[in-house]
Amino acid sequence: MKTRHTLPWHDTPAKSERIVSAITRIASVLRSGAWQFATAEGLNPTQVDILEALRSRREGVRLSWIAQHLGVTAASASDSITSLTAKGLIEKGRDAADGRAVALRLTESGQNLAARVSNSVSFAHEAVSDLPQSTQEALFESLLALIGKLQQSDRFPEIRACVTCKYFAINRHPDSNAPHHCTLVNAPLSVSLLRLDCPEHDQAQAAVVVQNWRELESA
Ligand code: SF4
Repeated sequence: MKTRHTLPWHDTPAKSERIVSAITRIASVLRSGAWQFATAEGLNPTQVDILEALRSRREGVRLSWIAQHLGVTAASASDSITSLTAKGLIEKGRDAADGRAVALRLTESGQNLAARVSNSVSFAHEAVSDLPQSTQEALFESLLALIGKLQQSDRFPEIRACVTCKYFAINRHPDSNAPHHCTLVNAPLSVSLLRLDCPEHDQAQAAVVVQNWRELESA
């Protein structure tokens, strides 16, 4: 005989568990969308991640940076890069900061393919766009706060976000809808305009970054 649950919510996992579960499921849907496309192009997941990482870093990056950014070994990153180079998607050049070092960049074909990989998750962009503006803003703020927490516990790789940028002046305009400021372009920034991957980003000092995350969290 079936047991009748009068209080089924007693079995409900903790909210933190359900939030992590929701994020994990969304991430796997996004990954499978990108990978389906990539598989059709003869790429493996690490190669897709490399294309995406290089897409907005036209100045090029070193092999060691790629390995650290993706959390893979240098040998694994090197294998993927060899394959991408053979396919004509990556080229090697001189590093702008150190002429003796090698910088890896996308070729034009690599840029085109990286853009198409990104388009393969356009279904997710559409789903987010369909949410009310207020929900999108709340979601962005919540995800930013979570990234901040994970960064402070060294669980999130470095990102080129406003909060970690030396040009970011937090709460420069405290009574405004755009309380923050980008000193590089000398413009106020609302929370919803904060960037997560800005090409102009320049890393701030560690103590400043910690203070920024704290202030943002308590805003
Ligand atoms: S330079 Fe870019 S990352 Fe830095 S504060 Fe300005 S917009 Fe943000």
